[in-house]
Amino acid sequence: MPSSPHPATAPDGLDVLVVGAGFAGLYLLHRLRGLGLCALALEAGSGIGGTWHWNRYPGARCDVESMDYSYSFDPALEQEWSWTRRYPGQAEILAYIEHVADRFDLRRDVRTATRAAAAAWDGGDRVWRVRTDGGTTYAARYLVMATGCLSMPKAPGIEGLDRFQGRVLHTGRWPHGEVDFTGRRVAVVGTGSSGIQAVPVIAEQAAEVTVFQRTANFSLPANDRPLAPDEQEAVKRRYREHRAQARRSPTGIPGRKADRSALEVPEAERTATYWDAWERGGLFGMLRSYNDLTTDADANATAADFIRERIAETVDDPATAEALAPRSHPFGTKRPCIDSGYYAAFNRDGVRLVDLRAEPLAGATPDGVATARGAYPADDLVLATGYDAMTGALTAVDPRGRGGLRLHEAWAEGPTAHLGLAVAGFPNMFTVTGPGSPSVLSNMVVSIEQHVEWITDLIASARERGAEVVEADPEAQRRWSAHVQEVAGATLFPRADSWYMGANVPGKPRVFMPYPGGVDVYRDVLEDVAASGYEGFRLSRA
Ligand code: NAP
Repeated sequence: MPSSPHPATAPDGLDVLVVGAGFAGLYLLHRLRGLGLCALALEAGSGIGGTWHWNRYPGARCDVESMDYSYSFDPALEQEWSWTRRYPGQAEILAYIEHVADRFDLRRDVRTATRAAAAAWDGGDRVWRVRTDGGTTYAARYLVMATGCLSMPKAPGIEGLDRFQGRVLHTGRWPHGEVDFTGRRVAVVGTGSSGIQAVPVIAEQAAEVTVFQRTANFSLPANDRPLAPDEQEAVKRRYREHRAQARRSPTGIPGRKADRSALEVPEAERTATYWDAWERGGLFGMLRSYNDLTTDADANATAADFIRERIAETVDDPATAEALAPRSHPFGTKRPCIDSGYYAAFNRDGVRLVDLRAEPLAGATPDGVATARGAYPADDLVLATGYDAMTGALTAVDPRGRGGLRLHEAWAEGPTAHLGLAVAGFPNMFTVTGPGSPSVLSNMVVSIEQHVEWITDLIASARERGAEVVEADPEAQRRWSAHVQEVAGATLFPRADSWYMGANVPGKPRVFMPYPGGVDVYRDVLEDVAASGYEGFRLSRA
């Protein structure tokens, strides 16, 4: 049982049960402890770190810069930690998270290798009862789901996978310790961020790499490099201001807000702007070049054309270059990738692309992968096939709210949540970066900190008022969800079969899940709701 010395209000000891011990779960523990509350986090992984515990695949690296992808809640912490590269790699982020856990003594309130397997609201005692995969049941007044948005792998959907005799490696469940590809023939299925990061690194070692691509993706150069000490010091000198700018920016990353349409500037100027963003590297430079790239198809096409030209220039074989050129969706409507040498990897001997639009995947065989056209022998099969994003990890816990209402039933037509934070019918349950909040469209650490602070403030406020039950009002939830869809409908996002839309999981309702209105706009909304005394939430004794 929890070792925190604080008084508890729930019958068997916990004020708050947190599910997950990544960036969100750990900060929750810290904040809740600061409020004098007794909290415990259950973590399915064998260690803390969430995404960065699981995603150990070669080349795993964040697409937000190090100086931005870190906690801002403690000025001393941000001064004492130093990053080595512009974009942080998996091992470095995990080391950072472990440092934070030790610095704030958080590990004592985390149970690792413990999966929350079921959760039910007990309206009589006004507690959540949460059962673990080991059979332990915890009761807690509040349940906070810090389960991550891209943590539940989707079923790969590859026939005959169980017959394959070689190693099967999912990027999001990568083994601990070194995976040696020397001399091996590696098949990689999937060309999202994970596959695109892994391919060039695997290609440096393996004898052969065959990349199975169903949808060509837009990828921009990361231009990753060592972070110079003076560069880092310059940010640290004004870190408070930098963080404040991040919170008031559309994406959670400081930067100039474009004020012009891509279509109102001469072509030469536009091309120069795109070149500048391309050479600086990174995801957001290009996306932020003009103010209408995500809303106007013609404006978007100017950036998409520019990227396709760079692919054609980089890849030697014209047929491979053409197959790699994304044409099925506007730029940015599927999460763009940033890479270190992805397109150039196809110029190496032994690296080839299989275009599954031209020769559909038949499935795995005992010794490789088969398509409609032929067989591709492989020793290893790397699945970079993605996640049941934003909802999969939440419904996997199978929360049951009032009257036994199950979350996956409540979301049968797509996820609806008030402000992305709470679901009507599920009292005292909160979701960090849930559907309906900026979440995956933003710098996750900024959005996580905002939600953790907002949720813990709401819990503190409820306690001050003597309220034991906090619940989203169904009408407020309906209005917010309609607003999210309205804002999404004014963008190009719904034009892509993306995981943002739930389109990558067969049978999942097609609803645009994150809130595309911007971190800055959303922050104003949450601040107004808190200032109003939590309008849209019902706080009651029972
Ligand atoms: P993803 O973007 O969903 O990509 C999955 C890939 O697998 C797609 O190319 C998909 O094709 C393909 N695929 C899935 N099932 C398939 C099947 N049965 N047959 C053939 N192809 C199949 O997943 P991800 O690459 O793991 O990335 C998910 C998200 O995680 C990213 O968008 C990003 O937000 C985050 N991420 C970030 C970083 C970073 O910070 N740099 C790194 C990794 C991941 P279709 O497109 O045709 O469905």
